[in-house]
Parts: sequence; C-alpha cells; structure tokens
Amino acid sequence: MAENRDILISGASVAGPALAYWLSRYGFHPTVVERAPQLRGGGYAVDFRGAAHLSVLAKMGILDAVKARQTHLSATTIVDQQGRPVAQMPAHVFAGDVEILRGDLAEILYEATRGTTEYVFGDSITRLEEGPEGVRAWFSRAQPRTFSMVIGADGLHSNVRRLAFGEHDRFLEDLGLCVSIFSMPDSAGLDHAGLLCNVPGRTAGVFSTGDNQAIAQLYFAAPGVGYGHRDVAQQKQIVAEAFAGMGWRVPQLLAAMQQAPDFYFDTVSQVHLDSWSAGRVALVGDAACAAGPGGNGTGNAVVAAYVLAGELAAAGGDHQTAFGRYQQLLRPYVAKGQKQARGGRDFLAPPTQKKIAQLHRFYKMLPYLPVKHLMKYLTTRTATGIKLPGYSG
Ligand SMILES: Cc1cc2nc3c(=O)[nH]c(=O)nc-3n(C[C@H](O)[C@H](O)[C@H](O)COP(=O)(O)OP(=O)(O)OC[C@H]3O[C@@H](n4cnc5c(N)ncnc54)[C@H](O)[C@@H]3O)c2cc1C
Repeated sequence: MAENRDILISGASVAGPALAYWLSRYGFHPTVVERAPQLRGGGYAVDFRGAAHLSVLAKMGILDAVKARQTHLSATTIVDQQGRPVAQMPAHVFAGDVEILRGDLAEILYEATRGTTEYVFGDSITRLEEGPEGVRAWFSRAQPRTFSMVIGADGLHSNVRRLAFGEHDRFLEDLGLCVSIFSMPDSAGLDHAGLLCNVPGRTAGVFSTGDNQAIAQLYFAAPGVGYGHRDVAQQKQIVAEAFAGMGWRVPQLLAAMQQAPDFYFDTVSQVHLDSWSAGRVALVGDAACAAGPGGNGTGNAVVAAYVLAGELAAAGGDHQTAFGRYQQLLRPYVAKGQKQARGGRDFLAPPTQKKIAQLHRFYKMLPYLPVKHLMKYLTTRTATGIKLPGYSG
C-alpha cells in the first residue's frame, strides 16, 4: 500500500498555513480545515523581531510581501486622561522589525499555499480516532477521512487540543487580564501614529493602520472573569462596564466598539502542556504554547511551523521522532516568550498610580536611550534565542 502522506491541519490563520507551506515543499499533502466560512481578515497588528523570524519569512519567499503590507506604525504618544501628552514611545517598541495586521499576514500565507494545499472552509473536526493506518477524522460537514497525522493550529481555544488532549481549562493559565480589540475609523487623524492612556487596572489605546482606519485596544485587569464565548453582547457589556468613567477618548472608543465589524474579546491566557503531541496528533502555534501579547507569538508560530515540518521531512515522516525533536528544539525558545509576556502584565494594565508614574518616567527617558538596542535586549533577544536547523527540500 502507498505511504499515506496526507496531513490534516486545523486552523487557517498563521501557524496552519505556514506549516502547510513547508509540508508541501517536503512532499507531504496538507489539508487545512478552517471553521470560519472564509479566510478571516482584520484583527490586531502582529510583529516580527530579529533574525529567526525574518529568516523563516525570507526562506518562505514572503518577506517582501510582508514588508509591502506593513503598518508603518510611527511613534505612540502616551497621554493622560485629559489627552495631554506625557511621553512618546518610538515605533520599534510596539512594531518590532516588521508589523502587519494579522489578517493581511493570513492572506499572504494563504496566497503562498493555496496552489499546493487543500483548504476546506466552514468546517471543523468533530472526532479523532487513531488506528494502525493513521488518524481517522470526522467533520461537521465533510465525509470522514484518514490522515497520517493531524496537527492542531487552531489557536488558544484549540479544538484539536480538546479532542486529543482533554478539556481546555487544564492547559490554560489566565493572566488575570481581559482584552478587547476592534477596528474603527481614524477619527483622531493619527496617520500611522498611536495613542495610549493608562489608569490603574485599565489601558486604552488607538493605533492608526493607515487609510483613515485605526485599531482600538482595551486591556483591563479582570482575574477569573466569566463570560459566554459566543455572547458578543455580554462581552461588549463587560468591556463597557470595565471602562465606564474613564476619560480621554474612551467614550468614543466604547461607542465605536458597538459598531465594530470585527469585535474581539478574550482573557489574556497562556497555554502550557507537558507534551505537544499525543500519538499522531500534534499542536503548533498558540494551540501548543500561546504566550499572549508581548510573547512573540506570531513570529514564534512561523518558526515552529518551519521546525515541525523540517523535522518530519528529516525523519522521513516518522512522527514519533519528528514530534520529539520538534518539542525539544522549540520548548526553551517559546518558554522565553511566555516568560516575557507574563512580565508584560504590569505594562498592559498597570495596577496602581505609582506603577503608572514609574512607567511614565521610563517612557520619558526613551528618547535619550538607544531604543533599538534596548529592545534588542528586552524583547528581540527572546525572539532570536534559537539556532534554526537547516532542512533540505
Ligand atoms: C490580544 C492579542 C494581541 C496579540 N498581539 C500580538 C503582537 O502584537 N505580536 C505578536 O507577534 N503576536 C501577538 N499576539 C499573538 C498572536 O496573535 C498569536 O500568537 C498568533 O496569531 C498565533 O497564530 P495561530 O495560527 O497559532 O492561532 P490563531 O491566529 O488564533 O488562529 C487560529 C485559527 O484556528 C481557527 N479555528 C478555531 N477553532 C477552529 C475549529 N474548531 N476548526 C477549524 N479552525 C478553527 C480560527 O478561526 C483561526 O483561524 C497577540 C495575541 C492576542 C490574543
């Protein structure tokens, strides 16, 4: 019987299509199943930092396309509740080496893979069963099929993780914050700049993405908040209540939130698992090791996809060897990103006025510091902390 080289990937955002790219280059046959009816656009801006991230994009031949659609975010001004500027943060702090909207990145990855990958939109895996010939997968809509392996690239609340590893709560660490992100018109005329305002436990920001559009980001401390995952009205209510009474442009942001076509709400959480694989099923990207904002999640997901596919090719499709090597190579790397993101909690929602004053003092010093060098030390160091193996194919 011919060797089964069909690999099912769940999730068509960043990690899934990046993995599909490399798998097809090594002669595997990837199928990507995505729950959304079509490629999901929009979303917040994500960034790539340092040589490891950039070299994988370059190897994939998409670095120029990513640069061509970067946000060109310039400085972000920190303001007080009256809108008075307090300090300015240079672009590199938020935008890394290249910043792009998550939806634009997903589109570039999709375009780079659609000729060599089978995409199934509007469907989801309902059951997985491993047998001697591979993994049998059942779907909400499509007929069941057998694959040699199944990879979960379906994000923080991964469906594959739930089916193959168990219920989510065991693997999620709530960092005690909530976040809401949505696009809105750039009514402040920011033209590629950003504005940020902190009060204890709450941060509101608005960042221009060009073309008179902006993205609002609202972070607030809310340990163990309960909400319905599909109840958008309730989520908006939670955000509105959390930011009630805050000054600056917050009332406008809350009004824009009600109209936003792409409202996003979640807890800020990390994923921790002892093993990223169970038999012929493995996880990649946020599904395996989400770090949260500030944890290099997107660049690390692209690096992880490169390593996972490369190890499968190097092991001649032997999943046990490949999954073991993949985890061994990646785990120390992503652990640094997770540690960094955990340390960013006080930055996202500073708990006290004293902490805010400290942060403002730091921001005021930034124009006098070598920021690129400083960021290299603070964040790029974690993003470059891996020696990438070379794989042939
Ligand atoms: C608020 C926030 C801000 C962030 N900011 C940054 C940043 O500035 N820089 C950065 O580098 N990273 C950032 N990240 C992290 C970054 O978003 C992720 O690390 C990155 O998107 C990982 O991509 P992924 O493909 O693993 O998962 P995701 O992007 O979450 O994609 C998962 C995909 O799986 C699909 N899916 C879900 N369920 C199913 C199912 N049942 N069946 C099929 N498909 C399914 C989803 O629709 C989605 O398309 C941020 C994350 C958050 C939450």
